[in-house]
Amino acid sequence: MIDGFGRRIEYLRVSVTDKCNLRCVYCMPEEGLSWLRKEQLLTYEEIVKVITTMAPLGLRRVRITGGEPLVRRDLPELVHMIAAVPGIEDLSLSTNGVLLEEHGEALREAGVNRVNISLDSLRPDRVDVLSRRPGSAQRIMAGIDRAERVGFEPIKVNVVLMRGRNDDEIADFADLTRERPWHIRFIELMPTGSNLHLSRDSFIPCAEALDRLREIGELEPVPGPWGNGPATYYRFPGAPGTVGVITPMSHNYCERCNRMRLTADGQLRPCLFGHLQTNLRDPLRRGEDLRPLIADTLRTKPERHLLVQGSDVGSGGLIALSQTGG
Ligand code: SAM
Ligand code: SF4
Repeated sequence: MIDGFGRRIEYLRVSVTDKCNLRCVYCMPEEGLSWLRKEQLLTYEEIVKVITTMAPLGLRRVRITGGEPLVRRDLPELVHMIAAVPGIEDLSLSTNGVLLEEHGEALREAGVNRVNISLDSLRPDRVDVLSRRPGSAQRIMAGIDRAERVGFEPIKVNVVLMRGRNDDEIADFADLTRERPWHIRFIELMPTGSNLHLSRDSFIPCAEALDRLREIGELEPVPGPWGNGPATYYRFPGAPGTVGVITPMSHNYCERCNRMRLTADGQLRPCLFGHLQTNLRDPLRRGEDLRPLIADTLRTKPERHLLVQGSDVGSGGLIALSQTGG
C-alpha cells in the first residue's frame, strides 16, 4: 500500500470501542459522549476480515486501541484471531492500564507483543484529577507491574504534557528511565472539539521539556525501541530506558506517516484528523470487495494534518481522540 505521496502504509490502528473507564481531561468530556450502539460496532470477525484483506496489500503491524480497548468483552479472542492472520508480524496494544492487571496475562498469551500505557502523573492524587476517576492510579501502577511480569517488551509510557498540570513532573518521569527499561514518551497536547480551553492554555512544546531535561543531565539521541512510530528518542548515558517526544503540533512528522485507522464502527481513516473516512462496515456486511475502497482511501491520504494550535479547525469535527483511537 503506497499512498499518493510515496509513503508505504503498513500499520493499522484498530479501535475496538469508543467507550472508556476514564475521562482524561484532554480526551473526553466528563459526561462522556453519545456512545455507538452495539450493532454499529464491527464484530471481531468483521475486524479480522478487514485485516485479512489488507495483509496481502502490505499490512504488517496492527495496534489495538480505543476508547479503552480492555473494556470490550473477550478482547483476547480478537487478539488470537489477528495474531493468526498471515503477514501480520507485530500486534500491540494502547491502554490506560486500569484493567491490565486483570487481563495482561491472557492478552500476552493470545499474542500481544507489546503495550503502550498512558500515565499522565506519578502522583496518585493527580492521576485521580486528570483521569476524573478516583482510585485509578493504583490500578494503573498494578497494570504496569503486571505488564512487566508477563513479559511485554518494550514498555512505553505515554504522558500528555500540560502546563500547570503535570509539567513539574517532567524530570521525575525522565528519572524513571535511569532505573527502569521503560520508554517515557512526552506527547504534545492536540486540540479537539472538547478540549479547546485546555489545549489553548496548557500546551507545552516538547522542545521545552527537552530543554528542562538537559539542565539535569546530558541527553543523547538514540534510535529508540522497536515500534517505528512518530517519536524521537533520547537517553541519559547508561540509562536502561529512553525519553521520547511526540510532536504533532510543533514538528510535523507526517512525511514519515505509515498508518491508517479503523474506527470502532468500521470507518477507514487515512489521517487521525480531518473529515476523510471511508465506510467499510456496510459494504463488508453486503459481502462486497473491500479492496477498491481501501485503494480509494489510500489515494485520498492527505500530505499532512492541518491542526492549528488553539482551534478545532483542522480536527474535522472530532470531539475527542477516543472516537478514532488516537
Ligand atoms: N485508552 C487508551 C489510552 O489512553 O492509551 C487508548 C486510546 S487513547 C485515545 C490513545 C492515546 O491518545 C493516549 O496515549 C492518550 O494519552 C492520547 N490522547 C488522547 N487525547 C489526546 C490529545 N488531545 N492530545 C494528545 N494526546 C491525546
Ligand atoms: Fe480513555 Fe484513553 Fe481517552 Fe483517557 S486517553 S479518556 S484513557 S480513551
